[in-house]
Amino acid sequence: MTSLLSISTNVKISDFCEACKINEINVVEPSDNPDQPYKLCNQCHKRLLKYSLRLVEWYNLAVIHSPNKFLLHDDFYDDDGEACQPEVDVIVTKKDKAPTLKNVRNDLESLLDFSINEVVS
Ligand SMILES: [Zn+2]
Repeated sequence: MTSLLSISTNVKISDFCEACKINEINVVEPSDNPDQPYKLCNQCHKRLLKYSLRLVEWYNLAVIHSPNKFLLHDDFYDDDGEACQPEVDVIVTKKDKAPTLKNVRNDLESLLDFSINEVVS
């Protein structure tokens, strides 16, 4: 258990799984870079080793570790992070879709619209 007090006094950014960003870290898996292991929950760790990450999980890891890492590279995932040869079924729901540039741009535009409206009214 991490108390609020220790969060504010520690510089640590987060103790959440790097892939799903929901569960706490259970496993530290060595990566190609010894200084930057994968920090994952049990479920994501299992999926990483079976090349069965969901899009958003692949995306989150690729952002941190780069998509060129052995467990993330394009033999196992296509350009969009879709698993090519998962050893277990990948269950993808709509909210698991990784954000694309287009989505981000739309979000930015709606944020802008919103702030402009705020100023006018
Ligand atoms: Zn996870």
